[in-house]
Amino acid sequence: MKPINEMKMTFLSRSANEGFARAAVAAFAAQLDPAVDELADLRTAVSEAVTNAIVHAYPDRLGPVTLTVKLYENGCVSVQVRDRGTGIPDVARAMEPLYTTGGEERSGLGFSVMQSFTDRLRVRSAPGKGTAVTMEKYIAPRVKGRV
Ligand code: ATP
Ligand code: MG
Repeated sequence: MKPINEMKMTFLSRSANEGFARAAVAAFAAQLDPAVDELADLRTAVSEAVTNAIVHAYPDRLGPVTLTVKLYENGCVSVQVRDRGTGIPDVARAMEPLYTTGGEERSGLGFSVMQSFTDRLRVRSAPGKGTAVTMEKYIAPRVKGRV
């Protein structure tokens, strides 16, 4: 299926950009007229993915994070967060709840949050090459004239 609209942007892995990325996705997805809670879910999931790129992909340097958002006629929003950082050696293990390499500061729940706040989550990663996290969320059509 071809998207009805698409945007792509690349920013540095600075923590200030986590809020920027979240707001950019929300503003773009607003075209599909999402409900407040649908938008909140999307923002939360995007935050987790971008935070992971900032914290884990580039632990001791700054690097590029690319955000691609596609909107589809059936109400699907697809968000990809891609980095060129460390990569994940064992994706299945990393996605287990409570698994973290972040020590005391992290709870290991980022992927679980992305999973529960979206309708589909795919993670592709290669050590030394980077990680691409793709999330899909369906925005329910709203009946005109009703709140
Ligand atoms: P939390 O998100 O709760 O603060 P966390 O980031 O450790 O903790 P997850 O977001 O579930 O938990 O990620 C699990 C683990 O997967 C991370 O600890 C890290 O080892 C690895 N990981 C996740 N995203 C990336 C990434 N973009 N690049 C490299 N490693 C990653
Ligand atoms: Mg995380």
